[in-house]
Amino acid sequence: MAKRPYIVGNWKMHGTRAMLAEARAIDRASERLIKVEVAVAPPFTLIHATRKEANLIGIGAQDCHNLEGGAHTGDISAVMLKDAGAGFTILGHSERRANHGEKDADVRAKGEAALAAGMNIIVCVGETEQQRDAGKATSVVTKMLKGSLPQCDDPAERITIAYEPVWAIGTGRTPTIEDIGDMHKAIRESLVAIYGEDAAPDMRILYGGSVKRENAAELLAAEEVGGALVGGASLSAESFLGIIIAAAETEEA
Ligand code: PEP
Repeated sequence: MAKRPYIVGNWKMHGTRAMLAEARAIDRASERLIKVEVAVAPPFTLIHATRKEANLIGIGAQDCHNLEGGAHTGDISAVMLKDAGAGFTILGHSERRANHGEKDADVRAKGEAALAAGMNIIVCVGETEQQRDAGKATSVVTKMLKGSLPQCDDPAERITIAYEPVWAIGTGRTPTIEDIGDMHKAIRESLVAIYGEDAAPDMRILYGGSVKRENAAELLAAEEVGGALVGGASLSAESFLGIIIAAAETEEA
C-alpha cells in the first residue's frame, strides 16, 4: 500500500516556548497539505506544549531511555514521553551515536522500549565520509540496520528508517540522487531480510541530510525515498513548509 510522503522535522536542541508559533503555523498549513504526513520532534521540554498547540501533525521525541523508570538522572523513558504527548521517537541519530556513544544494541533496546510503550520509531542509520570513501557505505548501513532494529509484529506501521549520511548532516552537502537511490534499495533489501517480504515493501525509508526547500523535490523523487528527516530547515515554518509543499507536488506529479 503506497503511503503518503512523511516529512519529519528534527528540532534537535533548539527551541523555547517562542518556537510554539512555528509549530502552530506548520500545523495550520498542514490542513491544506493532506497528501503529506507531517511531524516534528521538538526537544523534550516542548513536547507537551507542542502537542497542545498542534492537532494535525505528529509530535515526537528525539531519544528515549531503554528502561521504563528508575535511578537514571537526566534520562527520560518512552512511557514518560508517550504520556507527554509524543507518538513516536527518533532513535540512533548520528549525533546521539557520536556524542553519547550509542551503539546499535542500545538503539535496539530503546526501540523495544518505545514500541512497548506504544510509540512508533524512526531509526537513523548512515555512514561517515571516511566509510563512504573506503567503499564501505552499504556494508556499514546494512550492519547498523541488523544491529539497531527491534523485533516488531507490525513494522510497516510502527517503524520508519531514516538514511542520513553523517557527512551530509548540517553541511549543505548531499549524496547524488543515484547514490541515495542505491542506498535506499540496499536498505529495502535489508528490511526484507529482517522483517520479511510481506511487511518490508510497505516500510518507509526517509532521506535526511541538508534537505531544504531548494533540493527537496529532487531528493524526494529519488528511488525508494518515502520522505525526509529535516534538521536545520525545519526550525522555521516558512522553510519547513517549503519542503512539505515540494513533497505534496512530488505526489501530484
Ligand atoms: C538531521 O540532523 O537529522 C538532519 C537531517 O539535519 P540537517 O537537515 O540540518 O542536515
